[in-house]
Amino acid sequence: MANKRVVVLPGDDSAPEAMAATMDALRALELPIDYLEFPPGEKWVRGETEALARKEIDASDTTLFGSTSGKTGGITYLRWGKQTFANVRPARYSKGFRSPLANPDGIDYVIVRENLEDLYLGLEGPLANLAPLNLFSKILRAPLDTSERGIYAIKVITERATRRVAEFACQLTMRRKRAGGKGKLTCTSKYNMLRESDGLFRRIVEETATKYPEIKYEQFIVDDFARRLVQSPHELDVVVAPNLYGDILSDAAAGTIGGLGLAPSGCYGEQYAYFESVHGTAPDITGMGIINPSATMLSAAMMLEYLGFDKASARLDSAVRQVYAEGRVLTPDQDGTAKTLEFARAVIANL
Ligand code: ATP
Repeated sequence: MANKRVVVLPGDDSAPEAMAATMDALRALELPIDYLEFPPGEKWVRGETEALARKEIDASDTTLFGSTSGKTGGITYLRWGKQTFANVRPARYSKGFRSPLANPDGIDYVIVRENLEDLYLGLEGPLANLAPLNLFSKILRAPLDTSERGIYAIKVITERATRRVAEFACQLTMRRKRAGGKGKLTCTSKYNMLRESDGLFRRIVEETATKYPEIKYEQFIVDDFARRLVQSPHELDVVVAPNLYGDILSDAAAGTIGGLGLAPSGCYGEQYAYFESVHGTAPDITGMGIINPSATMLSAAMMLEYLGFDKASARLDSAVRQVYAEGRVLTPDQDGTAKTLEFARAVIANL
């Protein structure tokens, strides 16, 4: 069988340091994979490198992406170009993670964030531009005053995008149930205030969930859900949310298990998927060699599973978690003094 092809975009600021550590671990697994490694964002030639990256992405099985602050291109192509509509962000505690909670043992759920619409379409502009629409606020029971200096932002929720992410979340709930999970799907949005947009999201998720009688379905308004995520995270299994709430809540979820350095993610579409940490580029620690590469490594483990290397995926995932259980080689965000590459060596020793 031909080798799998993986595009590696190391990203910007500190992200390439986490990626270098992750590549050491991936290479140590000696899998039949060809890695097409791009340079960090600062070395990209505007336009040119991005065009090449798109070509390689098209010819690849998947992409491993370091975070970008704008210098690395390709993220728009990986999301909208490749229609990777479901952003899967697991929150799973392991012994040794520096969680601020008193009892984090057993936290194991997944946030599925709709990845392609909501407020993330960049539809912003001067308020005055809305004047010709003669908009009427149902809440104020008055026309929108467009004479104020200000900016609008548009939130878009479509039936199609909601249905496909809801279906994805149901399938994931069923897969987790077969592996011993709770078989529970939680939908969250602000459906009491944004009755039409978030209301549509809620309604379609509920409709989709009713097609799966084995799934226990529940729904919470997003502010109430934020409290539950902190107070009773053990009750969660699979959570589905529109883009913006999903983005915010998954950072909070990462915080409850021990921080952004520990939170992986994968963005899945019908034809393609790519993998990246939940965290950004950690610009404040660039060049210090101390970024925690766990999130990138655990994202790489998700990627290996997607490629069909289930055993190698489990090996990498547990090798990372074992370093925490041992507690000797931890990076500063986890109250340790280890450098990124020392952490990587400890993971490789556990493989
Ligand atoms: P974005 O908007 O892209 O999410 P951001 O700058 O808001 O980016 P991050 O880059 O995620 O957020 O960083 C937030 C804080 O968390 C920073 O202080 C950063 O150093 C820290 N941080 C993030 N990821 C890691 C990591 N893997 N290891 C150590 N510290 C990290």
